[in-house]
Amino acid sequence: MNTSGNDPNEDAGEHVRIVEPAETVIDEPSSATADDDNSQVAPAASAPTGSTGAALRGLGFGLQDRDWTDERWRGLLDRVIDQGLFTWREVVWLALGHVNPSQVGTSLASSEGFKRNYGKGNTMAVVMEWFYEQNGRCAEAGCGTRLELQADHVKPREDFKKEGKAKHEADTKENMVLRCRRHNVIKRPSHALGGTTFLTLEAALMWILLEIQPRTRVDYGRLCRIYGMSMSDIRIDEAWAMAGWLAAERCYQIEDNERGTYRLLKWPDGAITRVRAREAAPVGCDVIRERVPGTSFVGFITLGDPDATDYTFRQMSVAEIPFSTYDLGNRPANDLAIQYVAPKKGQRATSQRLFPLAPRDHHLVDWALRAESELFVIEAATAARGFDRGFEAGESKRRKLRDGAKIAKDSVRLDVV
Ligand SMILES: [Zn+2]
Repeated sequence: MNTSGNDPNEDAGEHVRIVEPAETVIDEPSSATADDDNSQVAPAASAPTGSTGAALRGLGFGLQDRDWTDERWRGLLDRVIDQGLFTWREVVWLALGHVNPSQVGTSLASSEGFKRNYGKGNTMAVVMEWFYEQNGRCAEAGCGTRLELQADHVKPREDFKKEGKAKHEADTKENMVLRCRRHNVIKRPSHALGGTTFLTLEAALMWILLEIQPRTRVDYGRLCRIYGMSMSDIRIDEAWAMAGWLAAERCYQIEDNERGTYRLLKWPDGAITRVRAREAAPVGCDVIRERVPGTSFVGFITLGDPDATDYTFRQMSVAEIPFSTYDLGNRPANDLAIQYVAPKKGQRATSQRLFPLAPRDHHLVDWALRAESELFVIEAATAARGFDRGFEAGESKRRKLRDGAKIAKDSVRLDVV
């Protein structure tokens, strides 16, 4: 299970073996971040939709579930119940439990602010009077669900604090409203993208798993990020456990990269994706190699600017290459060629970024395929001295070949030894 395959910050520098001294040509930033990667596409400053990376151009976050009719939802439920994932009884049991506004009154009555404002013995009666007056639906415009209702402040406690008032002044029945758990939660800065998605996080994780059926953990993560999820990878790992459990009961297919062979596909925007050896390639791409073992590696040299000499070498295992076989709704099949950069610590979820997975949106100079036991070698002529130098790229995931006069234009090639 690969949990870090889409981390562009990762660089296995200690495995790099360089044949010739690297005094001039190779620049290996030890703390490379996406910020100093000139392949970066500037994200939208705060808007979660629109221009947050080329992968999302014009489409924003989200997948097709937003447009689903009740018929589609019913179809999904019918299918997974037929498969034996769960029973109708369990579905109804779960729905009934979530429509019960259990502990809304008691939790409110036990809050320090309410006890303080209404007096200890009196609070429960005040709260229950307020509770019965409600209409039993989420107050958020356009929602109105009866599921998972919670008591929520109309004007948040923080606003009272900002106005120099005591926090407990927010805890009055006049300042309370019923909202569903989701609309309560997505007001938090850490859930800034929540409002752009349709399902709750835990539901969306299972919708992607059971409906889109990603074949690898890496693709599962990519789908989650495109959906708009900004939570840590461990939540995706946990949800992926269900794929393993279902696979053990033959209800799910996890890709066996160790034994599989694949067709490599190249898209007009440079994205490289794959299908299984006998699967049809989607419309709009070229098959660039047949019968590629899942244990092999693709290496490529790219230029951010075709007129410059800012060559970058990258490699990834075929097992990390996204599949182009999923139903992504109105998204093109190469939209999964993305890598994700988590929000910086303490920053809002909107600071998460999706980058095109190189060589997507890069100028591809050369590429090669190697077996596990082989090594990539970068050949480049230096303009100053005019002779070739070879560099074994080892297991390095990404290296920058230094810009400037040191590398002769059009002299960089990738070989395998
Ligand atoms: Zn709601």
